[in-house]
Amino acid sequence: MSAEYALHGTVAVITFNNPPVNGLGLATRTTAVDGIRRAQDDPDVTAIVITGAGKAFSGGADIREFNSPKALTEPTLHTLIRTAEESVKPVVAAIHSVCMGGGLELALGCHYRVALPGAQVALPEVKLGLLPGAGGTQRLPRVLGLEAALNMIVSGNPVLSEKLPALFDEVLAPNADLVASAVAFAERVAGVRPLPKVRDRQAGHPDANAFLAAARARVAAAAGPFPAPLECVETVAAAVTMPFEQGLAFERERFMHLIHTPESRALRHAFFAEREAAKIPGVPADTPRRPIERAAVIGAGTMGAGIAMALVNAGIPVTLLESSSQALDKGMTAIRAQYESAVGKGKLTPELLVQRMALVTGTLHYRDVATADIVIEAVFEDLAVKEAVFRQLDGVMKPGAILATNTSTLDVDRIAAATSRPQDVIGTHFFSPAHVMKLLEIVRGRATGSDVLATVLALAKKLKKTGVVSGVCDGFIGNRMIEQYVRQAGFLLEEGCTPSQVDGALERFGFAMGPFRMSDLAGNDIGWAIRKRRAAGQPGMTYSKVADRLCELGRFGQKSGGGWYDYRPGERTPHPSTEVDALILARAQELGIERRAIGDQEIVERLVYALVNEGARILEEGIALRASDIDMVYLTGYGFPLFRGGPMFHADTVGLRNVLAAIEGFAAGRHGEAWQAAPLLARLAAEGKSFNGG
Ligand code: NAD
Repeated sequence: MSAEYALHGTVAVITFNNPPVNGLGLATRTTAVDGIRRAQDDPDVTAIVITGAGKAFSGGADIREFNSPKALTEPTLHTLIRTAEESVKPVVAAIHSVCMGGGLELALGCHYRVALPGAQVALPEVKLGLLPGAGGTQRLPRVLGLEAALNMIVSGNPVLSEKLPALFDEVLAPNADLVASAVAFAERVAGVRPLPKVRDRQAGHPDANAFLAAARARVAAAAGPFPAPLECVETVAAAVTMPFEQGLAFERERFMHLIHTPESRALRHAFFAEREAAKIPGVPADTPRRPIERAAVIGAGTMGAGIAMALVNAGIPVTLLESSSQALDKGMTAIRAQYESAVGKGKLTPELLVQRMALVTGTLHYRDVATADIVIEAVFEDLAVKEAVFRQLDGVMKPGAILATNTSTLDVDRIAAATSRPQDVIGTHFFSPAHVMKLLEIVRGRATGSDVLATVLALAKKLKKTGVVSGVCDGFIGNRMIEQYVRQAGFLLEEGCTPSQVDGALERFGFAMGPFRMSDLAGNDIGWAIRKRRAAGQPGMTYSKVADRLCELGRFGQKSGGGWYDYRPGERTPHPSTEVDALILARAQELGIERRAIGDQEIVERLVYALVNEGARILEEGIALRASDIDMVYLTGYGFPLFRGGPMFHADTVGLRNVLAAIEGFAAGRHGEAWQAAPLLARLAAEGKSFNGG
């Protein structure tokens, strides 16, 4: 049952019951329409109340239906709203908790609205690259006025019900009984005729034309590559310039246009991908979790300090352990400096600074971390050092404590083997700065317990991060792929590009930062150390030696005043470097390469398809559970353009046959050894399939 029908005296109450947020899927719409008709046919009913059970009035349309014919199957959302609006008996929306998207559009079609305070009211469609397509752009301006409605529709952000007096006929006291109050209200208005309809009002603004012109300019500047925000402005404008029915038809037409845009598809993909990432086969949602009330972090360097802040920001007290008092002081000072800077920027109150600092305690002794529920190790990236730390932790930590490592590349199973409790060991790979970046790669070792995995996934959520589970391999999902991307960037330098050309092409594609600017920011010495470690341990893969030469010159990046670019003292603006250009030319000459002009398309394809090809291997090996998890890693941790939906989704959009053909072309060129198509990619392309299904 997705909506229930009950009589409260002479008032019919229709209650959505479609957890978690009363999405208006086909079954719910059908029962609601049947309910309104039944109430109209019942001579004893004088008025109708529509409300929602559980945690919402309604969170809106069921967006899973967008890719199926169900959204267009009668009764559509339009039909439901029209049925309410055209009811000959008054329809009262009784709103609490969440009233969003199609839920708000339905409420706007009702004759009256009664709400509890604290309800989140929004038209968030723009966040999925869409616009409200069930009358929201035409009705909301008629209730709130042009400006307030446009702000809500273009931002998609929620507004509390008590801040929207124009929208509601009554905002109740916080502890009022919503249904009883709505029924009483319905009894009072039962005899009102004609019934008030939002559609009959005018959308007001003292100077609509000037306002809309300014809004177009402002929204166009902020929208970037996304078409939806401007379409929102145009449809809201129609509420002023067109009669209601014509405005509705225009809104429908623009909605149908947006739903097929790659940008909206990408945003919807990301929306579902984030939810999917939390679902792990064999680890059901009711898997018992271990309580996390206290945490410890080992190592107070760049990552340890950031991880401590991420925990503290979520209200979890942290003990920070270092090997020397100098290093500990440095870490504590760095944390305080970050919070002070946030206070300086008005992002944190001085009181919160005091509260947060009170949650961090420093120590040099393992006995002080023994009672933590989770300990996260962030010491040097050196297996022997980490093994020694884990042996110590094994000796002191209370039974049941989760032992996590922030390693970026090392074997979590080997680290776990240093303890007598490998089931409690897991990788928590944060990204720098750890208190800011959304991604948390969660590395599941061979022996990691399901409850440990479920607990860390829940912790990711508590830290407001996107947790994505990876299996154990060198570099896990993100860094293993980025290596292939960086490798191609290096080859391109030898073949004819400059760093700024490569960065420019990737930034025009939509990356927040190209590979060379990114490397200068992170420190070129990190990759250098990894390459040296690999060269010592195993015969490495081919890569351009230009990066090593750069490091031999001490050009580690922004921190050393120069890397792939030159930086003026105290500045972060990259300037092309003649020293680097000369280095690249010398290397090309040494290799006998005749440099050629290389266009944006080749640059982008070589870097992005290198990600895709490695992503396909990672998927095939089961390191990632699904293609959308790889997309989440890249969207939340590596600045991959959101409007392209992640590397695997982008490959699907381009078409896997086209991607494969490009890869086969690269395989025939210089550095073809780097381009063996992943078997999964070749197979899906041959079958006409995509990574993300279908
Ligand atoms: P860092 O050099 O800034 O900090 C390491 C800290 O660990 C130092 O303060 C050091 O004093 C301390 N330390 C070393 N041995 C210790 C021991 N035995 N006991 C206690 N403390 C000890 O390094 P970082 O950049 O913070 O990296 C830490 C870990 O995080 C590494 O495994 C790294 O691969 C990983 N990581 C780094 C990044 C990044 O961008 N820097 C991103 C993700 C993961």
